[in-house]
Amino acid sequence: MIYRRLLDIDTLRHNTMTVQLPVCTTAGNENLKQPSLDLLLRNLPGAVYRCKNDLEWTMEFLSDEIESITGYPAGAFTAEPRLAYASLIHPEDVEKVRGAIDAAIAEEASFQVVYRLTDSRNEIRWIWEQGCLSNSQIPDGQVIEGYMADITRMRTAEIFLQERASYLERARDAIVVMEMDSRITYWNKGAEKLYGWSESDAVGKLFCDFICATVPSFAHAREATARSGEWAGELTHRRHDGIEVDVETSWTLLAADESLGIPQKILMISADICERKEHLARIHKLAFFDALTELPNRVHFLEQLRHALAASSRSSQFGSLLFCDLDNFKLVNDSQGHATGDMLLQAVAKRLRSCVRETDMVARLGGDEFVVLLYPSEQESSSAAAQAEAVASKIVKAMSGPINAGDKILRSSASIGISIFDGKDSTTESVLLESDMAMYEAKTAGRSTFRFHDPAIQAQWSARAVLEDDLLRALNFNEFVLHYQPQIEGKDTVVGAEALLRWRLPNGKVVYPNEFIKAAEETHLIVEIGSWVLRTACSQLAAWQGNPATAMLTLSVNVSARQFTTSGFVESLEEIFKETGVNPAFLKLELTENLLIHDFQKTADVMGHLKKRGICFSLDDFGTGYSSLAYLRKLPIDQLKIDHSFMRDVLTNQGDASIVRSIIGLAVNLGLQVIAEGVETTGQRDFLSNSGCNFYQGFLYNHALTADLFTEYANRYH
Ligand code: C2E
Ligand code: MG
Ligand code: MG
Repeated sequence: MIYRRLLDIDTLRHNTMTVQLPVCTTAGNENLKQPSLDLLLRNLPGAVYRCKNDLEWTMEFLSDEIESITGYPAGAFTAEPRLAYASLIHPEDVEKVRGAIDAAIAEEASFQVVYRLTDSRNEIRWIWEQGCLSNSQIPDGQVIEGYMADITRMRTAEIFLQERASYLERARDAIVVMEMDSRITYWNKGAEKLYGWSESDAVGKLFCDFICATVPSFAHAREATARSGEWAGELTHRRHDGIEVDVETSWTLLAADESLGIPQKILMISADICERKEHLARIHKLAFFDALTELPNRVHFLEQLRHALAASSRSSQFGSLLFCDLDNFKLVNDSQGHATGDMLLQAVAKRLRSCVRETDMVARLGGDEFVVLLYPSEQESSSAAAQAEAVASKIVKAMSGPINAGDKILRSSASIGISIFDGKDSTTESVLLESDMAMYEAKTAGRSTFRFHDPAIQAQWSARAVLEDDLLRALNFNEFVLHYQPQIEGKDTVVGAEALLRWRLPNGKVVYPNEFIKAAEETHLIVEIGSWVLRTACSQLAAWQGNPATAMLTLSVNVSARQFTTSGFVESLEEIFKETGVNPAFLKLELTENLLIHDFQKTADVMGHLKKRGICFSLDDFGTGYSSLAYLRKLPIDQLKIDHSFMRDVLTNQGDASIVRSIIGLAVNLGLQVIAEGVETTGQRDFLSNSGCNFYQGFLYNHALTADLFTEYANRYH
């Protein structure tokens, strides 16, 4: 409105009028000289105009400032031949200007418009113009009066800033700015795309509340940024749809600007790396896994073998490698076709995996060659060999079963070579070569079997295999026999016996349990042998129970850990009780401490069950195992049996004497019976008796006797 008053047509014509500017209203101060319109127009940072609202915007008046805007003097527009002002306006902006003027006229309001014009040097200028329809109109049309200013510099700066801002907006990465309390102040389009939250949803919220999947890692990143000025790493963020996304992100601390009142902030630039991770995983799979069987391939296996050797060298533990080769794969491939061959390999891979623990590695080297790597976990090479043997037998057995390949049923088998390694003497090459050579030995030995590379280990395992065959024969041909060693109370009262197993070979030679029980324990044979022992012992006990002279004798029977924890043990005992008609209250099972440690819960369950049937429990070889006083309290144990190794030197070795006295004291305190085995001399017996132990077993009284001899002996001493 101020321009409207300024540009009153009459005063403009005379160009001499003094105007009343708001700043200069001097009511009450008559002496103050008021500025002339001329001066005012000259000092305005733009041009004042009056023009016809025709197509050319024919100028009737223009202040001199127009020259600094357009490069043309005012006269160029107002005097003939006139320069049409409209011709300077950028063709793309003409419509916009005209539209703004027409709208203002229609609404009887003023207009404001920004447009471009070309100056006398042919350069583009940005013009801001404001005007309105004049009160005094001319007969041949409308007149517009207004003011225009050159805003080129401002506009350029604005464009520059917009351009810069658009870079951030167009960035693919999510760019987020937050204050130190994680309140979001900037959120670009990339952030909208990555997280699914719009700018208006996000700004003002706490980043750590609605984006961070793991607050501690966020806190760590924020702390590091505050401390060092920047931080970069990977974080897990949560999207709008709740899905977690892995991002690679770099954070920069933005210093506070107190003059502008801007606090310290953090700029975060984050990129979604899920796809990259998936790619990497896919590439990793391609590079390290066999496409057909999905098992680790040769490269992956060699890498793991190297790790295993390094670990072995650090821990001094032994591991093993099993090299498995299918025995008839070529035949299947040639006769049944490659598709069937592939199916066979896939089935073999599955079977191999099912034979090993989660931590062991099964890999396919190529063709029909597979390897099984058992990581170093054994202190002795012999235990590593035992472990490898167990896995190898399992594989040989598993492979010999029929395999379904599509609609066909195939038969296959595997030959396995085993190398036991340690990190000091072995290399990847030597381990592979040794197991490969041993595999050929297995082939030569008739296939569907395994061989150790080390001849000493192989000899041992061959002997073990022969022993196993012999034990099986012994069971089938009744070569086992039980002998009974008397158990004495006080001076010479026979109160019971321990059943000890003997193996009478066809040639009459007797083999003692120390030579075969361990081998039997390492196979399932101990379960069958143990079952035979229990049946025989219970028949004998039942026979004694039928005779008043021996009716009160107890019979101790050794039970191996594997036998005791085999499922169905309780049921098989019940069966034996029924068969033999024995009163189980006189039966005592001898367990070793190691069994209790191994599978405590299972052992406790079985013991609890049998205890209800009246069976007693004795802890054999007490003092030699991993004794834990806790299980003595928790389990229904009746008797501790002092191991005979303490007895040998009990009279000369203070240490042994103290141990024996402690065991006796422990038993007394816990209310348990205590018996000493291996008592050979009266001196030992007197020591025990003086220490509070009144039950003895040993050569002082008798060796283990045949059933007949024992019965005779018991009749004599009962
Ligand atoms: P164990 O249960 O500790 O049996 C005691 C062993 O000490 C027996 O050896 C016995 O003959 C021997 N012995 C007895 N008195 C003396 C003595 O005064 N001095 C010496 N030096 N030794 C004595 P055996 O019969 O050779 O049995 C050895 C181990 O075999 C037994 O140790 C037991 O652990 C195991 N065993 C024996 N029979 C069976 C069985 O039927 N089943 C199971 N699972 N293991 C059995
Ligand atoms: Mg025993
Ligand atoms: Mg013993």
